[in-house]
Amino acid sequence: MKFTEAIRRSPIYCILRLKCPHCHTGEFFYKNPYNLKHLGDLHAKCLLCHQSNHPEPGFYQGALYVSYGFGVGLFMGMFLFLNVLSLTIFHMSMEVILIAMIVLMILLSPYTYALSKITWAKMNITFKGLK
Ligand SMILES: [Zn+2]
Repeated sequence: MKFTEAIRRSPIYCILRLKCPHCHTGEFFYKNPYNLKHLGDLHAKCLLCHQSNHPEPGFYQGALYVSYGFGVGLFMGMFLFLNVLSLTIFHMSMEVILIAMIVLMILLSPYTYALSKITWAKMNITFKGLK
């Protein structure tokens, strides 16, 4: 899929495509988020722009706050969606809704973990492009 330069420069593109926060081109993570053996592993430096992905020790501790926000937002969004679905199409009990939410949260947790790390990195690292 081809993206215009304006889209490639946006932080949303960097975050959703899990790209390097410096150049928005190189891969940020070592493997895809669902490879549980390498869960959350980053490249030490971007393979294309060679900028460090670890600006300082403990840098990614701030991603915990982002992860909390994503978790609460996702939980509330799923609860609302499943409740509306339950009231309109499928009639589910509250136990079924809660079990469905827990299963979805577990299935989405590797991706939300990766999203929280890249979001924290993007909040603190500015785009410089490839030089
Ligand atoms: Zn890069």
